[in-house]
Amino acid sequence: MSPAPDPSLFDKVVNLCKRRGFVFPSAEIYGGFRSTYDYGPVGVLLLRNVKEAWWRSMVQLRHDVVGLDAAILSPPAIWEASGHLQNFTDPLVDCRNCRERFRLDKLDDSDECPNCHAKGSFTEARQFNLMFKTYAGPVEGAGNEVYLRPETAQGMFVNFKNVLETSRKRPPFGIAQIGKSFRNEITPGNFVFRTREFEQMEMEYFVSPDEAGQWYEYWCDERLQWYVDLGIPADQLRLRAHGENELSHYSVATSDVEFLFPWGWDELEGVANRTDYDLSQHAKMSGESLDFFDPASGERFIPYVIEPAAGATRTAMAFLMAAYDEEEVAREGQGQGETRTVLRFHHRIAPYKVAVLPLSKKPELQEPANVVLGLLQPHFMCDYDETQAIGRRYRRQDELGTPYCVTIDFETLDDRAVTVRDRDSMAQDRVPIDALLDHLAPKLS
Ligand code: ATP
Repeated sequence: MSPAPDPSLFDKVVNLCKRRGFVFPSAEIYGGFRSTYDYGPVGVLLLRNVKEAWWRSMVQLRHDVVGLDAAILSPPAIWEASGHLQNFTDPLVDCRNCRERFRLDKLDDSDECPNCHAKGSFTEARQFNLMFKTYAGPVEGAGNEVYLRPETAQGMFVNFKNVLETSRKRPPFGIAQIGKSFRNEITPGNFVFRTREFEQMEMEYFVSPDEAGQWYEYWCDERLQWYVDLGIPADQLRLRAHGENELSHYSVATSDVEFLFPWGWDELEGVANRTDYDLSQHAKMSGESLDFFDPASGERFIPYVIEPAAGATRTAMAFLMAAYDEEEVAREGQGQGETRTVLRFHHRIAPYKVAVLPLSKKPELQEPANVVLGLLQPHFMCDYDETQAIGRRYRRQDELGTPYCVTIDFETLDDRAVTVRDRDSMAQDRVPIDALLDHLAPKLS
């Protein structure tokens, strides 16, 4: 049986994000700006680790996937060919009573306004295009329109031929990209779950049409497992196949990897069989041939595409939610109990791997602390903190999810050893400085 969602988790994580420097509301000194967020000193590390873990699994550890970093600004032709100008819309309704706007397909009750609870107050649904349009160059007007990409995927399709010709890859092979996408969402919200500017991690896997079904199954399984391997409990994840009426205009089969958010199951990633829709459309619109000739079999075909499309920012939020834990513990060094908040991140996801903590600011401890920092920094992202009582500093690192704290105390001056504290068990080991790297490396690699 799957666990129940915990609505109280949402505020706890959002507060911790602000308090510890994970995520700040954007333009906060001006009162904030419409569901946009900035990633602070720890949040930027978390986000980088999410993206790095994805890249490692999707590109580095495979021989059949190459990377790409395509432009964000793109001409209308791309979005006309892809169908986004026509189809990338959400149904928008206005409440005539309170004037709030909603996305019809996300309403629990399509007849009752969730804001003012008026019944039957919605206008007819209008299809609202989610793409941000702007102008290239000094003149605003027809002929100068450009779009901010609403997905990274089209970069892979329009570069299909370039990559095929330069990378020596042939189907089945993939092109992966991580980058910002923009959607003028009608109802952004739930913190960084749905924002107008966000980061995606997408991979287009080009296959022969008759193998598309099996590759679709393969990528559904692979992608679900990725989250489990990085520490999200399996019972907080599920795969959900889309019904016929849910499919995007380019898809014949889609499954979402869903996570149990505090408000219930919701999408982390979509895995879609996009068929040959995109390549065929771009071939038609551009006049370039985008098919593949297999000299071995003599076959010529337009590859089908299996696409795992994940959100980096949304995934970072899921890692935060899954890692959050509170437990009653004896105060370290004292008898009384207290609640300890700890982010039990997988070490690959944790922003800092090690915190170096000299017991006091005294200069004689700074020398060995700097030696330790110099030893560890080339290998791991480290935090350094020399103020406050050590118990409070441990709590701070627990809230950042730092797997190990290394404490330098006055005994270090005699024995050239340090105390290594484990985040999860709070167990402490005395380790010689000379052996520290060998002690930590296997646990963090
Ligand atoms: P939704 O149904 O939630 O609007 P979608 O099915 O349109 O999302 P996709 O087009 O499949 O989303 O995008 C792939 C991934 O990109 C999503 O699974 C999600 O992780 C991320 N993503 C999409 N839109 C947003 C957004 N507005 N804010 C943050 N992440 C997003």
